[in-house]
Amino acid sequence: MPDILVIGSGVIGLSAALNLQAAGYPTRILTRDLPPSTTSMAAGALWSATQLDGKLRTWAEASLRRYLPLTEVAGSGVTLQRFREVYAEPTPTPWYHDQIPFCKRIDEPDLPRGMRDGYLMDAPIVAPPIYLDYLQSQFESAGGTIETRRLQSLDEVADEAPVIVNCSGVGARELAGDEAVYPIRGQTMLVTAPQIREGFMYSGDIIHIFPRADGVLLGGVKKAHDWDQTIDPAIAAAFLEKCARVEPSLAAPKILRQFSGLRPGRHEVRLEVEKLSPSCAVIHNYGHAAIGYTLSWGCAEEVLALAQEHLGTLK
Ligand SMILES: Cc1cc2nc3c(=O)[nH]c(=O)nc-3n(C[C@H](O)[C@H](O)[C@H](O)COP(=O)(O)OP(=O)(O)OC[C@H]3O[C@@H](n4cnc5c(N)ncnc54)[C@H](O)[C@@H]3O)c2cc1C
Repeated sequence: MPDILVIGSGVIGLSAALNLQAAGYPTRILTRDLPPSTTSMAAGALWSATQLDGKLRTWAEASLRRYLPLTEVAGSGVTLQRFREVYAEPTPTPWYHDQIPFCKRIDEPDLPRGMRDGYLMDAPIVAPPIYLDYLQSQFESAGGTIETRRLQSLDEVADEAPVIVNCSGVGARELAGDEAVYPIRGQTMLVTAPQIREGFMYSGDIIHIFPRADGVLLGGVKKAHDWDQTIDPAIAAAFLEKCARVEPSLAAPKILRQFSGLRPGRHEVRLEVEKLSPSCAVIHNYGHAAIGYTLSWGCAEEVLALAQEHLGTLK
């Protein structure tokens, strides 16, 4: 089988690489940063699919099928978490309600002030510091190699493999010359808060309280077109104040770690083939914005199908 080269080792690159490897393709990863230094490390990272439709829904559904069994795998960093997702407007029953183990509409008197609807549900949540390490170990123990190198252009590697999978996140703006890609700055905080048993998510004002395998993750912020990746104490103070309004015990938590990252924004995910040369195709797989974990396995499955199609045409 021919080699496949995956660019990037965030959650999108690692998932794509593992899926190609599992299908029998010798797969290499080439990346500027190793997993702990990627945007993927800063994520929540909840499987979160309420607003999705079309292709996004298909990819999220495929990812859910992968994540649910992983909640049973010790050391994967994926757990099943009960949380409340609330909305400022009446919201139809989530399309996935019968695909997760538990999903129930919250009675109106039990909604937080100002909220009009909400669901109590059990969904998979990922602790990236554990999960990315788990994916990397799986990849390497099956013979995969990871080279750290910064590419200036995809042409540099056009003769290294018949298929290149471009999972460079916000880096695709430069690497693929795609001006539709832009950063959406994010910041989160991991705290010790064992008293928090139930997660909370309100996307409107971005209040995230996510209990997960490595602590409770608090967030957040979304600042489009902002390339700054420093940890801003003012941003942290603002989201802490909002979280403490929901859970007063979070007013002055014990901070374990803070993260920042640039979500790869784009008007839509780019998952398509582009010919670099007669013998080399690049499969672009970037632009997953705020839902890269939610989409990762579904996109990895589509990457495999596109790679098989392209390699078939080379015979
Ligand atoms: C604060 C925050 C909270 C989030 N919460 C959630 C959540 O709850 N649920 C969810 O589903 N998603 C969430 N996300 C979104 C998710 O984290 C992203 O969609 C996802 O991490 C994108 O993954 P990626 O692999 O495309 O990008 P990245 O993780 O950025 O990886 C890109 C890779 O490409 C490499 N690269 C880039 N340019 C080059 C180059 N020129 N040469 C070589 N290598 C290169 C980088 O080194 C890196 O390895 C959140 C994001 C943030 C920031």
